[in-house]
Amino acid sequence: MRLLVCDPTAPSAIAAMREAGIEVDVRDDISPEELEAVIADYDAIVVRSRTKVRQPLIDKAVNLKLIIRGGVGLDNIDVEYARSKGIAVRNTPTASSNSVAELTVGYLLALARQLPQVTASMKAGKWEKKAFSKGSEIAGKTLGLIGYGRIGRLVARKATALGMRVLAYDPYVTEAEEGVTLLPLDELLPQADYISLHVPHTPETHYIVNADSFARMKDGVRIINCGRGGTLDETALYENIVGGKVAGAALDVFEDEKKDRGQRLLSLPQVIGSPHIGAGTVEAKARVGEEVARIAIEFAAA
Ligand code: NAD
Repeated sequence: MRLLVCDPTAPSAIAAMREAGIEVDVRDDISPEELEAVIADYDAIVVRSRTKVRQPLIDKAVNLKLIIRGGVGLDNIDVEYARSKGIAVRNTPTASSNSVAELTVGYLLALARQLPQVTASMKAGKWEKKAFSKGSEIAGKTLGLIGYGRIGRLVARKATALGMRVLAYDPYVTEAEEGVTLLPLDELLPQADYISLHVPHTPETHYIVNADSFARMKDGVRIINCGRGGTLDETALYENIVGGKVAGAALDVFEDEKKDRGQRLLSLPQVIGSPHIGAGTVEAKARVGEEVARIAIEFAAA
């Protein structure tokens, strides 16, 4: 099997695939034009989120049998079209779950104590002890999870261990682990001190948190989105922060991650954020690599 690695992938994964007899070429900064020119030579490709695998590329991929997406979202691949051409499309959905869950917990604590803001103040040479002594504990507070899948469950476990009460809304889940109460969204919203989104972005979840949702929430609620941009109406969030309803927000994902990048929201002192780094840990990358290699090796052997 000839396999092309199109995006950065753990060297250990490349070594494992070669050891298993797969002919691996690594061009992890390949341009779309270069990829179109060589795709016909390969049986399999490995991509992360950078490389787009759209219909015109698939049409040129006359020998392609397998697309492996290292990571979760398949938004960069025309999955149905590829499958209609007999190409298998696989991803590594669990590899980064714990990293995203830990980032979420980090944001719970960062919002409670304004850690990024107080650090910025210290770096500016200030000693604003009084201004930053108005924090709160997360123990005893209620966390409302929207989406109780792989990441939502891990966040729930960690938050429970930190003494939080956890509520979750997920219409596709019927059972929750001990300490977690599943309930309808309109019952979750008025009870939660923190609301964290862990749903994919679909037509159904588009703006699942919107102006109406904010109206139902507690005053002083804090919002976290380490899921996907577009699930949270950023304009409604902005207005509710400015209006004093929402005390803080932490965002790892944004509606527009190319141009605007949440700049209007980030201009508010109550908003903290990161550039979609939920899966950006050494451990998650290593696990993605292991999974990618396992998928390729199993496929080659089948
Ligand atoms: P998952 O599929 O295991 O869980 C998603 C859950 O959302 C499922 O339980 C599903 O039933 C639920 N859901 C679907 N529609 C819903 C709705 N309308 N209302 C409420 N719940 C609904 O996925 P996961 O691995 O837990 O990932 C969750 C999100 O995190 C995904 O959007 C994923 O893309 C994102 N993610 C972000 C990063 C990052 O870097 N920030 C990294 C990995 C994953």
